[in-house]
Amino acid sequence: MASQEIETLASALARLPGLGPRSARRVVLWLVKRRETALLQLLAALEQVRDRLVECRICGNVDTQNPCGICADPRRDQTSVCVVEDVADLWALDRAKLYTGRYHVLGGKLSAMDGVRPEDLNIGSLLERVASGGIDEVVLAMNATLEGQTTAHYLAERLEEYPLRITQLAHGLPVGGELDYLDEGTLAQALRARRPVG
Ligand SMILES: [Zn+2]
Repeated sequence: MASQEIETLASALARLPGLGPRSARRVVLWLVKRRETALLQLLAALEQVRDRLVECRICGNVDTQNPCGICADPRRDQTSVCVVEDVADLWALDRAKLYTGRYHVLGGKLSAMDGVRPEDLNIGSLLERVASGGIDEVVLAMNATLEGQTTAHYLAERLEEYPLRITQLAHGLPVGGELDYLDEGTLAQALRARRPVG
């Protein structure tokens, strides 16, 4: 019978994406055995995240500065905005180092099943960025899932009234593929071969 403390931590960990109750309990035991090393490092890292990370008011990226390092970087192409579902997708694309523009994080995808409507996503702020001018291209980098593609179509329609090139990642992406899980070569290829939405 595990102690209350272990149960509390295990159930908190079990709520993390990709971690069920069984693996959560294994993580707890692993950490308990490493109280002075891994556990301390984890505590310190969690505190840093809590104290220092903020959401970028322009693009929704998570960083220690606001606007984030990407939005604040004058060397990045200001005329191109790449729209992604989540911050993890932004990071995956940026690791591939082929895209030099800026990003916009939707914070999810449209989903009838989960009740996610357009007003639940950062679409208004995207349209404001586009309407304020200076942007020539919007790259829709949604995941190759049904909901990701529904979201991309919706955005393409909303963006239609602006004088923009709207492109989409070439989906040599595996069907059902999520950007965050792709290797950098595949991502780079999808980005290089992006094509107009039509
Ligand atoms: Zn930003």
